[in-house]
Amino acid sequence: MLGACDPAAALTLLQGEDALNEYCFNTHRISHLFCQTCGIESFGRGVGPDGSEMAAINVRRLDGVDLFALKPHPFDGGSL
Ligand SMILES: [Zn+2]
Repeated sequence: MLGACDPAAALTLLQGEDALNEYCFNTHRISHLFCQTCGIESFGRGVGPDGSEMAAINVRRLDGVDLFALKPHPFDGGSL
């Protein structure tokens, strides 16, 4: 669960860093990382509102995740 640990430290990319392209928009606080081959964004890195490093994973890219079992929480990014 994010927030219960250090999300940036909890993410270890085992391979493929050189196959990623970075895209930043708006405030450039988040590094959106896309596969150069298929264009999928599997994760991003950035700095949270409290200044700590963070990572966000696209769970649609993880094996064995039942998306319908997840309970997403709405997030108002426009209020940042
Ligand atoms: Zn790919």
